[in-house]
Amino acid sequence: MPQLRIVISGAGGRMGRALIKAISESESLVLVGALEYSGSSFLGEDAGAMSGLTPNGVTVESDAAPTLNGADVVVDFSTPSASVRLAETLAGAGIAHVIGTTGFSNEDNAAIAAAARRTPIMKSGNMSLGVNLLAALTRRVAATLDDSFDIEIVEMHHNKKVDAPSGTALLLGEAAAQGRGRHLDECSERGRDGVTGARKPGAIGFASLRGGSVVGEHMVIFAGQAERIELVHKAEDRMIFARGALTAARWLKGREPGLYSMADVLGLGD
Ligand code: NAP
Repeated sequence: MPQLRIVISGAGGRMGRALIKAISESESLVLVGALEYSGSSFLGEDAGAMSGLTPNGVTVESDAAPTLNGADVVVDFSTPSASVRLAETLAGAGIAHVIGTTGFSNEDNAAIAAAARRTPIMKSGNMSLGVNLLAALTRRVAATLDDSFDIEIVEMHHNKKVDAPSGTALLLGEAAAQGRGRHLDECSERGRDGVTGARKPGAIGFASLRGGSVVGEHMVIFAGQAERIELVHKAEDRMIFARGALTAARWLKGREPGLYSMADVLGLGD
């Protein structure tokens, strides 16, 4: 069976190095390129050695064009602006794109959706099986309970994370909003501080905690009168996201252009 040829974007990051390790553990995948920011201190280094592995002969580069030559899929955990630029480049070249980056603006999301008209893109704020199952459960519970149950989403991450709420918290918020037949933009309540007034009925609230080395914890709370349901996921190792992203890369190869989700990859759609 031919190997799937993968380029990693954001190769020097925490997720990039976890992906390079996960690829090295698979016989059906091969790393053919490693991309980084033009000011990165990793440029010119061997991608294997950078990831704490034996050298693999792939040099970390900043110029996408030659690196993409012969790639089947690019797996990208970098920054929103880098991912949007790369989506445009990959759409032009017809190369599949797995996007794990979070923190996109509405304009960024529109640009990625436009690129997905020309090449297959799988984008998800969380690539783990557990969180995508949690999203499916959240949608179902939200649809079953009415607005007398207030929905709050609490997340905690390590102290280096730059965006809030996390992409996963937003993914769970969207699932809850879908269950209630609404759009998240219309009902999300973020960053309460000071005299905020009473909670709006039907709002979906978010709270973000940051500290230490926490890989990622999410809780969806359905708070009713005298009873509460809490759905919780705790990620203990980044490798769950790396393996999920590589499952998505295998699934994406050869698909029609379009914007896919991890629920599509895992067959968790309703
Ligand atoms: P990180 O350690 O900061 O890694 C991001 C990497 O991307 C850094 O090495 C950064 O380089 C690099 N980068 C910046 N600009 C770039 C460019 N133009 N081209 C290529 N690479 C570029 O962060 P992380 O923890 O790995 O997370 C990365 C992203 O994935 C974040 O948005 C995070 O929220 C998300 N994430 C998603 C999932 C999921 O399952 N979807 C799971 C975990 C994390 P410099 O440091 O030199 O700027």
